[in-house]
Amino acid sequence: KNMVYAFHKGNAQMKALLGGKGANLAEMTSVGLQVPPGFTITTEACKVFFQNGNSLPDELAPQIKSAMRQLEAAKGQFFGDPSNPLLVSVRSGSVTSMPGMMDTILNLGLNDQTVRGLADSTGDERFAFDCYRRLIQMFGNVVLGIESVYFERSIKQLKKSLGVTQDQEITSEGWKQLVTDYKRLTLKETGHDFPQNVDEQLNMAVEAVFKSWHNPRAQFYRNIHRISDDQGTAVNVQCMVFGNKGTDCGTGVVFTRDPSTGENVLYGEYLMNAQGEDVVAGVRTPKNIQELKGEAPELYRELDLICRQLENHYKDMQDIEFTVEHGKLYVLQTRNGKRNALAAVKIAVDLVREGTLNKEEALQRVEVSHLDQLLHRGIDESSIPIVLTTGLPASPGAAVGQVVFDADTASEWEKVGKQVLLARPETTPEDIHGVIASNGVLTGRGGMTSHAAVVARGMGKPCVCGCEDIVFDLGNKFMLIGDQTISEGDWLTLDGASGRIMKGVVPLKEATVTDDLMQMLSWADEIKTMQVYANADNPEDAQIAREFGAQGIGLCRTEHMFFAPERLVVMQELILSDTPEQREAALNRLLPMQQSDFEGIFQNMTGFPVTIRLLDPPLHEFLPNLKELQQQLFTAETEEGKARLAQLIRKVNSLHESNPMLGHRGCRLGIVFPEIYEMQVEAIFHAAAVSTAQGFEVIPEIMIPLVGHANELKVMRELVVSTAEKVLGPAYKNGIRYRVGTMIEVPRAALTAREIAGYADFFSFGSNDLTQMTFGYSRDDAEGKFLGHYLDRKLLADNPFQVLDADGVGQLIGMAVTSGRSVKPALKTGLCGEHGGDKDSIFFCHRIGLNYVSCSPYRIPMARIAAAQAAI
Ligand code: ADP
Ligand code: MG
Ligand code: MG
Repeated sequence: KNMVYAFHKGNAQMKALLGGKGANLAEMTSVGLQVPPGFTITTEACKVFFQNGNSLPDELAPQIKSAMRQLEAAKGQFFGDPSNPLLVSVRSGSVTSMPGMMDTILNLGLNDQTVRGLADSTGDERFAFDCYRRLIQMFGNVVLGIESVYFERSIKQLKKSLGVTQDQEITSEGWKQLVTDYKRLTLKETGHDFPQNVDEQLNMAVEAVFKSWHNPRAQFYRNIHRISDDQGTAVNVQCMVFGNKGTDCGTGVVFTRDPSTGENVLYGEYLMNAQGEDVVAGVRTPKNIQELKGEAPELYRELDLICRQLENHYKDMQDIEFTVEHGKLYVLQTRNGKRNALAAVKIAVDLVREGTLNKEEALQRVEVSHLDQLLHRGIDESSIPIVLTTGLPASPGAAVGQVVFDADTASEWEKVGKQVLLARPETTPEDIHGVIASNGVLTGRGGMTSHAAVVARGMGKPCVCGCEDIVFDLGNKFMLIGDQTISEGDWLTLDGASGRIMKGVVPLKEATVTDDLMQMLSWADEIKTMQVYANADNPEDAQIAREFGAQGIGLCRTEHMFFAPERLVVMQELILSDTPEQREAALNRLLPMQQSDFEGIFQNMTGFPVTIRLLDPPLHEFLPNLKELQQQLFTAETEEGKARLAQLIRKVNSLHESNPMLGHRGCRLGIVFPEIYEMQVEAIFHAAAVSTAQGFEVIPEIMIPLVGHANELKVMRELVVSTAEKVLGPAYKNGIRYRVGTMIEVPRAALTAREIAGYADFFSFGSNDLTQMTFGYSRDDAEGKFLGHYLDRKLLADNPFQVLDADGVGQLIGMAVTSGRSVKPALKTGLCGEHGGDKDSIFFCHRIGLNYVSCSPYRIPMARIAAAQAAI
């Protein structure tokens, strides 16, 4: 079996066998770039090595030998020749790039004899012994496992005894001395002499590189980047070229474009008269690659040319390692360069403009999850923040403000122009006005899909959740983080992208919606076939949604309209009313409030559908917290106040449910209290009529939540249709198109989609509730209690509230789409849960043929790009 490939025998497509480095060395060789000759030992050989209990396969030795003969022929030198020795490097190279994680040995082939030969043939003894001491150090460390600190200590002692500080000041005698010291160190640490037999050196080095696949550093890197453990590594054996042979020699690393801005200029570092690792090792301070222009203009021009050539060849920004030997430039490695989101977008767009990529290829270059970096403010990482604690990164963006511990204070302070951060043990719908008033939110409990997180994401506000080690003392208005006391009014900074809570005011970096991103998004719109809607509950969000390119509203939660303090009072009156007259009075006051919101939304979304969900949460969410009421009763001063509180407490008690999420909510409210839904529908159609009369194109879609049985929808549909006729009368004939549909969020609804479709013009998959009910996981509790353990132990691959569970929940969705469309081919289908902004979930929605996904306004750009990627 062939386990060895010369560089001129391979190509870039052979990554799995040759590793990334080997495949690219082969590719560069075949396009005629200056690459020192060499060969690659395959990842397959590595796997056999592990299967054999860490011993090299028998068939490998002769193959390596013959490959070495070829290198000798190419260079006109011999491996181990005491007069003019061939030297090689032995380099690891995994399939997935793991920069710096594994080990490399340079100058292999030197021993006490050949070092003399190298000195004589080059006429440079100092250089020869510098190479030899490097070999012993790297070999000693990588192959023999001697701690590098011993070698470093040895160099330090030498310099001290010579009275010098820089490596360059060490003479040939000095390096000779160090070689002696290193050899003594090797014998002492391992009980063996440094191997003088060069074939033995080579075999030991190959084995050591294979073994380095399992070193803890590499292991850790693979874990965090989810790289499979059984790929194995390839080994590259390559003729040495020398950057440490004089002042017309050097070595460096260059990116073909700036990886942090994307600007089309060479970016990198180099050192003259240096070898390999010197640039990164920090022995000397490397120079900016731009200085090479002045220092060696010819060389710079050549490097620039190679960069362009490699970029054109790979059609992507490259990260290149090079070495110069006596003015001759060699390329030692190339790979696609890592970059941040800003640079990724700019580079991809530029490459299309330059004619290197087409739009589809450019779109696929963008890592959707990185776009968050662009669309929100971030921490200026050049500052050095004091991190107090880290919670869950629940909603991206960074925020600075003075801490407050309750929503009312937040909103009072905001009104007088203060910058506030709301900190709560957890948030409830009643805290909404506080969230609105704050620059950011932090909570002690709750996960990525807790109330605070969902609301904050919806508003594009930074949020950190689940800071479990914060102890709140709400009564005394302070919190404890470790030994730090943070009181109301103290300044904090939070970063919703990383979950960090930082002390004081940390400088921020603005969001950057660049022209390049706009360009990329418009390409996405040309290509994607699924529409992207927004979840938006008010005219302002609708406006933002349009600016981000929403093609409709997929979820307008009407209950959010009731949480503003002046409206909440009326809502409470409605719930507390004892007589039909009281109830009607309250409804009559709520109607115009809802209507004006709907008008604003319709007008901002003219020409696009607006999906409005009728009241969904259990009524108790609109009433004050029982404990707080009881406390108030205790301290109430007047009899009248006491009586009012007692009544409130009775009502709250009567609405108490032990399982409110499975209780009296959604269409179950509409069925028992039809007048609430009637009022909402009236408000919708009044708003539609008014807006239409003003020349706006209105497309209302009325959505009934929590349907589990077709009869529920049948009754609710009748209610909507008759109310519409009552309100619209002749206007109806004047052409307001509207739809009535349902959320599919109870598993039974998905199972009986065929029957339900009979009464529905559209299905909108409420994937939050559908996930909650399909798994039987309470969304508000699961993350804090057990889901984390499940994820840590990899019992679940992803958090199902973030990434749609394609196998289970997805199966229900797919089934409902198919059976719904079987009776109603034109049935419109979409998804409006948190998953609407997640890439994998969007890919799934595209695959099963949904018409749209709906997500919070700030995630729309990501969703547009993901939808385009799904369509390519
Ligand atoms: P890493 O994966 O850690 O970057 P490499 O195998 O790329 O390890 O080697 C690191 C450095 O060693 C290279 O960037 C180069 O400077 C130097 N090097 C490797 N092979 C050779 C060679 N044949 N000739 C000269 N220098 C080499
Ligand atoms: Mg490298
Ligand atoms: Mg729901």
